[in-house]
Amino acid sequence: MDKNSERVGITSTIPVEIIYAAGKIPVDVNNVFIGSQNPSSLVRLAKREGFPDTTCSWICGLYGAIVEREIGTVIGVTGGDCSETIGLMEVLSLRGVNVIPFSYPYNRDASALRGEIDRLARHFGVDSKQAELQKERLDRVRVGIHRLDRLLWEEDRAFGGEVQLLQLGSSDFEGDPEAYLENVERKIGQVGARQPIPTELRLGFVGVPPIISDLYPSIERDGVRIVLSEVQRQFSLPGGGDIVEAFIRYTYPYGIFARAEDIALEIERRRIDGIIHYIQAFCFRGIEDIALRRSLKVPVLTLQGDLPSRVTETMRLRIEAFVDMLRRRKERSR
Ligand code: SF4
Repeated sequence: MDKNSERVGITSTIPVEIIYAAGKIPVDVNNVFIGSQNPSSLVRLAKREGFPDTTCSWICGLYGAIVEREIGTVIGVTGGDCSETIGLMEVLSLRGVNVIPFSYPYNRDASALRGEIDRLARHFGVDSKQAELQKERLDRVRVGIHRLDRLLWEEDRAFGGEVQLLQLGSSDFEGDPEAYLENVERKIGQVGARQPIPTELRLGFVGVPPIISDLYPSIERDGVRIVLSEVQRQFSLPGGGDIVEAFIRYTYPYGIFARAEDIALEIERRRIDGIIHYIQAFCFRGIEDIALRRSLKVPVLTLQGDLPSRVTETMRLRIEAFVDMLRRRKERSR
């Protein structure tokens, strides 16, 4: 089997246990895009092929990554992720890519999700026992990532930027769960040996992962730390359980109210002073900002990114003003 036929692209977090059980290698094309040496070139590739100017850069980047890496099979998450995925899948199929839809049930119904997972497993010739065996294998890595998350918020020994990178990779474990576990354990060793980091403000980062490369370090300075990366943490399936239970507890596909409930709990547990809500230009999730602000009891700063880039001066000023406001608010409440 050549390497191309072993790789299966995924456009969002799905039960990759099935792909591993089939002896194939999952490739989260989001991570290929954002980890590329030149993510802008992948966006340009899509634009040259006719993607409208109003298409979100993540969708363009996914397309560019799939084409550039010559990924022949892609599982597109058509329900519970991105409203633009169906269009992306249609264009990919025109190029001869084998597209497999996977859909999370909008109503978070466990039997509907089980049916969808079974359908995917049948497609790959895998049964539920084989998939659960892979879950045990992958859970060993997830447990390490959860330990790192506790070192971040409970023991104050890590920065959100370094933890979220390992959480992000838990969508596909970079195709090699054992090597990934070694990376996670190395990081736990490094972080665990540190003294607690003096922290004045504890922030949460919610929304899709940012396309802006230096956003985390631009926020985490001068006594400010990000102690929750909502979506990235969800990729590591913090709810646990068997495959169906874990993906029902996974909040990201089930709308803003499921997510807001999880965020509110974590705000309490992690003693968070304020929330950064990251949204992407032309993304329907920007509308969710309205419900999010109404659901949360701490101040929210909404930042919007567009093309792969670095923090702009305007964005830097807005972050500084938000941090100043939170500092004054905290002093007043003492
Ligand atoms: S940022 Fe929004 S529009 Fe873009 S890929 Fe993600 S969900 Fe879709």
